[in-house]
Amino acid sequence: MKMFDIIVVGAGPAGLMAAGRAAELGAKVLLLEKNKQPGVKLLMSGGGRCNFTNLSTANLFAETVGSNGKWLLSALKYFGPQEVIDFFQERGLTTKIEDNNRVFPDSDKASDVLNILLAYNHANGVKMQVQASVVKIISAHNKITHLILKDGKKVQGKKYIIAVGGSSYPHSGSSGDAYNWLKSLGHSMIQARPALGQIYLKGAPYMLEGLSLENVSLSLYKESRLIDKEEASIMFTAKGLSGPAAINLSRKISLLPNDSLSLKLDCFPNEKSDFLDKRLQKIITANQRLDLKNIIAHIIPKRLTDYYLGLLDISPNKKGSEFNHSERLALVDLLKNKAMLISGLADFNEAMLTVGGVDLKEVEAKTMASKNISNLYFAGECLDLDGPTGGYNLQIAWATGYVAGESAAEALS
Ligand SMILES: Cc1cc2nc3c(=O)[nH]c(=O)nc-3n(C[C@H](O)[C@H](O)[C@H](O)COP(=O)(O)OP(=O)(O)OC[C@H]3O[C@@H](n4cnc5c(N)ncnc54)[C@H](O)[C@@H]3O)c2cc1C
Repeated sequence: MKMFDIIVVGAGPAGLMAAGRAAELGAKVLLLEKNKQPGVKLLMSGGGRCNFTNLSTANLFAETVGSNGKWLLSALKYFGPQEVIDFFQERGLTTKIEDNNRVFPDSDKASDVLNILLAYNHANGVKMQVQASVVKIISAHNKITHLILKDGKKVQGKKYIIAVGGSSYPHSGSSGDAYNWLKSLGHSMIQARPALGQIYLKGAPYMLEGLSLENVSLSLYKESRLIDKEEASIMFTAKGLSGPAAINLSRKISLLPNDSLSLKLDCFPNEKSDFLDKRLQKIITANQRLDLKNIIAHIIPKRLTDYYLGLLDISPNKKGSEFNHSERLALVDLLKNKAMLISGLADFNEAMLTVGGVDLKEVEAKTMASKNISNLYFAGECLDLDGPTGGYNLQIAWATGYVAGESAAEALS
């Protein structure tokens, strides 16, 4: 069996960064990927445009990530958003910043990001093997001795970095393989759940499918208790809600039992009910002779107008002059507080992210080294780390990958 210094399992963003960095520091690295090509999910990211980081400070980034963000701080301070941008720019990528500090390649091509990582690996002598699926990790005395591949071959390294991703989009290669291996090595695993996907609603308004609403507020309730709130856009789907506000709330929902959860949609979060009512009154007074469906469509899209008037049992052909006070107040209430019952979340086939993974209590935050197995490191989504949409999850992969690669290489000497 040929001996490598470091074996990295998984050629996604985390594994490519880890392998490249370890090799840059002089380690002899083998990178194993089960797919025919590396970085399949990276190529899909951001709709193929690759929102590869979010330009914020380490502290703000960690705060946005949430409860496990603090654990990530040392990696973010070492290889944070600015360092990631510098890394890609120094290798020829021109970048742009869009709303909410989301960073993209100027070209809008995820393949440009992947090509830089491939060149980084190639230039530093990483040996990449594709169609090499690891099926078993063999260990003795709290140390990995070798890996077994699907074709029966064995591979051996001094150090191992697991970067196999989570369980989301299993067709992209990330099919939760690490879960059982790591459990059998004695690592505690936080239950994997799908997140960053659409929210299913009871009695979803399927007639609104495809309709997007910008700058709305979506609040998550458990019974009458407010759990979280997102202000962004939403999109109605055949089964519920998608779009950034819904997708980000799905991260919270994934950690809660699905019963008694509901959403409240406020179409005008920056306008109090009495102001909205006054504005509506003015519009109605100015358009007394028009049908209600055409008047209300001054402030919300036509399809939503029809749906809301239907819910209130108000004829869309009623004239403005016939719209009475209590009907108007009921409409304002609906525009500000439309309640929707949650029935579930998109599963791993549809959801973009996995929450859960290797319990961070058993991983050194400064090095990504396992506290249980002496020659094992972790990087990327297989860790119990996840962020909202906006470049946070790729940044987590870059930071943990870079640190894991560097610390595994430094531990060789
Ligand atoms: C559609 C979509 C769009 C996204 N867009 C964005 C975005 O714009 N910005 C953002 O920040 N995040 C985005 N994400 C999330 C982001 O892509 C992931 O968080 C990130 O790819 C995780 O990187 P990783 O290297 O940890 O895992 P992965 O990218 O999942 O890579 C893991 C690799 O390991 C390989 N592997 C798995 N098991 C084995 C095995 N047994 N043997 C060998 N190899 C194995 C897999 O084939 C895969 O190549 C998106 C996700 C999806 C699904």
